[in-house]
Amino acid sequence: ATDASGADCRPRLPLSFELFPPRTDAAALALGRTIDRLAEVDPAFISVTFGAGGSSRARSLTVLRYMLEHTHVEPMAHLTCVGSSHAEANRLVREFLDAGITSFLALRGDPPANADPDAGIGDLGSAAELVQLIHRVQEEREPFGQVGVPGNPGASRIKARPRPERVAVATFPTGHPRSRNLGHDVDTLLAKEIAGANLAITQLFWRADDYLGFVERARAGGVMIPILPGIMPVTNPARLGRLTELTGVEPPAELAIELEIEPDAAAQAELGIAFATRLAAEVIAGGAPGLHLYTFNRHEAVLDVVDRLGLRTDRFADERNTAR
Ligand code: FAD
Repeated sequence: ATDASGADCRPRLPLSFELFPPRTDAAALALGRTIDRLAEVDPAFISVTFGAGGSSRARSLTVLRYMLEHTHVEPMAHLTCVGSSHAEANRLVREFLDAGITSFLALRGDPPANADPDAGIGDLGSAAELVQLIHRVQEEREPFGQVGVPGNPGASRIKARPRPERVAVATFPTGHPRSRNLGHDVDTLLAKEIAGANLAITQLFWRADDYLGFVERARAGGVMIPILPGIMPVTNPARLGRLTELTGVEPPAELAIELEIEPDAAAQAELGIAFATRLAAEVIAGGAPGLHLYTFNRHEAVLDVVDRLGLRTDRFADERNTAR
């Protein structure tokens, strides 16, 4: 796919990144620089995680607002509904829409480990219900119907139904820790699509076949929405251990051993970056519709992966060429 001048004119594969809200002022300052660097590769969106139970609400909003005010990047807010009443979830969605956020990753979230098992998980039992709520709140704010036409008092037109830009959901190629089997994960994803989700982002996985096989099963099960592979370059053994604990997804023994026995920090980082690059190249070759990179709030490793895959573009090149 080249144009008359021989330049590659294939559309670039969409990139996206995930960040978490910083806990200190110093971390917030560093995150601003990270966001600026990530914005340079023109991602389709950058998502910001949300502490289940709302513990990070204000900090998540600050990061999302930074993106709106200082970059051209579309901010995506993770929202969780576990433990919330309908009224609380409604208020939360309104607050983010009021702040100008129109893209969401709708999650159920996990109840705190020490939660009273009799306390229940709130009014919304699943991410699918939160997806529906996001659409409902958006529609209530800007109802569908006849509106006047500015400058033409007698006329009216049908107002297009406003939709949030993206309502994404999570999916688990190697199975959610609580799901019965992979068929259950496909069914859950289908339920979220039927509820109105228009994008899925996967949990970490370590083998291309896990992702590609899951996508195949999801398509056979009727899922139509794009399923973005979520990949993280893991640059040290401690982080790999923590990730395994958090996600329950077992990494390949050879990666764990190689990271463990490598004494040099730079060489450890190289192992993780090379592994993530290979995995990303395999899922892209298998037809992945984009690449979602978990950043751990650092830009260096993920941008290294982007560069090694040849996915960096100069977003202003087109504008400069047209201006010439
Ligand atoms: P759902 O889609 O409602 O359910 C997910 C799966 O769990 C389904 O297979 C469902 O059947 C199964 N399941 C759930 N509960 C049970 C049960 N009691 N018994 C049997 N099966 C059950 N968490 C956060 O707190 N904040 C974040 O910002 C965040 N971001 C994430 C981003 C991504 C891309 C991913 C993959 C996960 C993220 N999580 C986050 C973690 C997520 O909240 C948990 O994995 C949670 O357990 C499931 O949320 P869900 O939205 O997938 O729920």
